[in-house]
Amino acid sequence: MRTDTAPVVRLEDYRPTDFLIDTVVLDIALDATATRVHADLSLRRNPAGREDAPLVLQGDELVLLSVARDGVPLTADQYQADPQGLILPGPLPDQFRLTIETVVNPTANTKLMGLYRSGGNYCTQCEAEGFRRITYFLDRPDVLSVYTTRLEAARADAPLLLANGNLVERGDIPGTGRHYAVWHDPHPKPAYLFALVGGTLDTVAEEFVTASGRKVEIAVHVEAGKRERAAYALDALRRSMRWDETTFGREYDLDVFNVVAVSDFNMGAMENKGLNIFNDKYVLASSDTATDADYAGIETVIAHEYFHNWTGNRITCRDWFQLCLKEGLTVFRDQEFSADERSRPVKRIADVRTLRTQQFAEDSGPLSHPVRPRTYREINNFYTATVYEKGAEIVRMLRSLIGPAAFRRGMDLYFARCDGTAATIEDFLGCFAEASGRDLGHFAQWYEQAGTPVVTASGQYDAAAGTYRLTLSQATPPTPGQPTKAPMVIPIVLGLVGASGDALPIATTNEATVDADGLFVLDSANATITFTGLTERPVPSLLRGFSAPVRLESELNDDDLIVLFRHDSDPFNQWQAGQTLATRLILAAMRGETVNTRFGEALGHFLDSDARNDPAFAAQVLALPSEADIARDIGRDINPTAIHNARLAVKRALGAELAPHLNALHGALQSSEAYRPDAANTGRRALRNAALDLLAAGDATEGAARATAQFDEADNMTERLGALAVLVLIPGAARDHALATFAARYGDNPLVLDKWFALQAGIPEEGTLDRITELARHPAFSMGNPNRIRALFGSFAMTNATQFNREDGRGYDLIADTVLALDARNPQVAARLLTAFRTWRVLEPIRRGKAEAALRRVAATQGLSPDVSDIAGRSLE
Ligand SMILES: [Zn+2]
Repeated sequence: MRTDTAPVVRLEDYRPTDFLIDTVVLDIALDATATRVHADLSLRRNPAGREDAPLVLQGDELVLLSVARDGVPLTADQYQADPQGLILPGPLPDQFRLTIETVVNPTANTKLMGLYRSGGNYCTQCEAEGFRRITYFLDRPDVLSVYTTRLEAARADAPLLLANGNLVERGDIPGTGRHYAVWHDPHPKPAYLFALVGGTLDTVAEEFVTASGRKVEIAVHVEAGKRERAAYALDALRRSMRWDETTFGREYDLDVFNVVAVSDFNMGAMENKGLNIFNDKYVLASSDTATDADYAGIETVIAHEYFHNWTGNRITCRDWFQLCLKEGLTVFRDQEFSADERSRPVKRIADVRTLRTQQFAEDSGPLSHPVRPRTYREINNFYTATVYEKGAEIVRMLRSLIGPAAFRRGMDLYFARCDGTAATIEDFLGCFAEASGRDLGHFAQWYEQAGTPVVTASGQYDAAAGTYRLTLSQATPPTPGQPTKAPMVIPIVLGLVGASGDALPIATTNEATVDADGLFVLDSANATITFTGLTERPVPSLLRGFSAPVRLESELNDDDLIVLFRHDSDPFNQWQAGQTLATRLILAAMRGETVNTRFGEALGHFLDSDARNDPAFAAQVLALPSEADIARDIGRDINPTAIHNARLAVKRALGAELAPHLNALHGALQSSEAYRPDAANTGRRALRNAALDLLAAGDATEGAARATAQFDEADNMTERLGALAVLVLIPGAARDHALATFAARYGDNPLVLDKWFALQAGIPEEGTLDRITELARHPAFSMGNPNRIRALFGSFAMTNATQFNREDGRGYDLIADTVLALDARNPQVAARLLTAFRTWRVLEPIRRGKAEAALRRVAATQGLSPDVSDIAGRSLE
């Protein structure tokens, strides 16, 4: 048994393994309750390891049948084994074959790690430490082996048998009703990239010809009956493969690329070599069942997992501390892909929203950690927004600092030099230092120092001298284990805007350099830039394109912000100016001050002019800062109800003031054309939904009528769900009717019902707690399925600020009880749910006390998994 006191793993303790495993030959006879795994490993001593060291293999809940060395069965005194490990004390030869037979029960595997069943099919998840649940192994990313996998199963039970690599042989086993398939993957890989699938699946496939003419069969396999919803994923895969060739010169390297969608999956998807396994949420789409956001999500995740073939698989991580090496880089790559396929500014805004909501929140609380952590107890808990999203921001900053040409040279060097290795952040940065001739030693601190830097800007205009002195300073607040912080290297892209909206010339006198793209690098605690030759007071537009993952505090007044909102040539800062203005209105409303309407006026002007040119961007402008954004801005003694009420008051006022514009927009953006998930139509529908949302805030009666009409008339999920999202916020018969209609229409489709669960879990009303208890008894709900849990309990905890943070503490208790109920069954999903408490310390005292009590109750429970124990413990530190 693993206990709740998992040992701390430290980066500084890394040392190479004592043995290497060159080849792995697996023979796996699939069976629902007793799958036999025969593993034949070719081992040799690692020259970098210790001489005479024993062989220590990891296991997890394994049952050992037999073990043999060079074909000779070992006797009980020649090895030690328990479910968690297999040790050969030695003496051992420098090179030998080890044959291990284990048996595993896929049906009983509710943790969804290792080999398990989903929807009647067999599948695997081995990252981070799942392969040790299949056989004993050196289960760590720096052990690279060539795998050959023979799968055998009853043909009726699993007509399709897939594993990594290329299919080399298949056939029937006469007279048994069984068949087999042999797969060989020539590319050495760590065990976490192993995968197999067996089952009854429907397939869509096509041929892809790579840039150099290699023919690849690309295929998407889905559960029986869902074939019609697999086409978009296949299309996204084809586009991803082409993009990686043109953008990074990376070609695919096997004869087949398979994507398999399963309904029970802990994460989003998994990049196993040549055999990606996906949560079906990121594969299945049709106009009737998926929103535009779902389509975009599928495109992103398909691309992400495919891009891992080079950044993750061909070049993997030396150890799990380097997780950001593959994840941060691959998120950056998928963000760039989506930006190229759709609108770059809109993609950037959406990514920054995610970064702020997820990563900034994480970074400001007890779970804050560096992008490359130095210690962990449970690696599953480090698949975080910090590793992924902030990791991607570091790569983006690197490109800004050295420029796109040097960045591409650095990537080429990285691919050339590190291919086939398990690399580190130092290896990665070294390539860019070499390609650019720059010293990246100080920049590397982004991987080591946790916390969100705060950049403060203040300026002084001297009309007589025609100069503007801009002073920038930086400070990073303390985080767990890091009480004091050093200045970071912060790329700040900036511009100066005149009162009438013109871009003013950039010329500086002192040594501070601003390059032709407006890039200034703040690498000390303070810096001053003196701009010259100005004939009017400029409005500084700072951190254009969100050039660094920092909080910017500037002293711009409302008039300055209106200038940027109306005229900034940088779309990100144009959007940001609107968000800052809206934030000020909401903060004013919290103080009980009258709502200033200059923003409403500017927004009205925007809706009548620019909005229709770029509807996707306009939809982002219309969406007010979230309650979490406002909470982060306030920073302490948070009362989520007060924030909710103030935000609602501002939304109502804006909705009422802008009603004529919004009504016109909502009508004009209706289309009778057939549904297409392309960027233009997606933008149009996004703006239409945003207009409806704001309109309904201003006039609930009119809003409910329009939403009901949209709900009834919609021929696609985006508009249907957009209308339902508005209706659930308006209590009454229209809401009840729409919810019932939706449930009846999609009653046999749990993946679609997740949207229905999530919307109801987010209703900011007292009765939501009871509603959730009732929904948990719905026939489509299951505590065994991670998507259902995330839809109902995850949405409640992460998006329903007023009800999760109820003053009576019942919201916290609901999540604590759910975490405890789930822990034995699926600790990974339970631990993730518990991170909803990550900002508890900044709550006002009464709520803080209730949240702490709930956390302490979880932490004090006997027999917790290492996953939940780790999150509870760190949250309370
Ligand atoms: Zn990934």
